[in-house]
Parts: sequence; structure tokens; C-alpha cells
Amino acid sequence: MNLAAGLKRLVLGPEEQEIPDLKRNDRCWCGSEKKYKACHQAADDRKRAAHRIASIKQQAGSLKRGF
Ligand SMILES: [Zn+2]
Repeated sequence: MNLAAGLKRLVLGPEEQEIPDLKRNDRCWCGSEKKYKACHQAADDRKRAAHRIASIKQQAGSLKRGF
């Protein structure tokens, strides 16, 4: 695991690990033999965005509780 991935796990939590971090032109993780960008990249990007929004909301919630 590289440093960036380790930091990402610290910041985003373990559930983020389920979304593989592939390059656009890598073979997709699902075994379809398609390039990632032509297969699951859009779906994974949506998942990542949802995770990000959820964690931002969580942070906002705990800030509010703090005051
Ligand atoms: Zn795929």
C-alpha cells in the first residue's frame, strides 16, 4: 500500500477501500475485459462522490453538535 492509499483510508474510512483505484485505461476490476473508463469508472465515481458527501455531512453534523 502506498502512502496516498494509506492516507485515503485514514481520511475516508474502510468502506472506501471497496472501490478500486484504477487508471482510466486499466482493465476494469469486474473482469469484463473492457477498459475501466468504458465500464465501471462512472459508477465508481458516483460512489466516491456519495461517500465524500456522506463524510462531509458527518463532519458538519459533528461540528454542529460541538457548538
Ligand atoms: Zn466493470
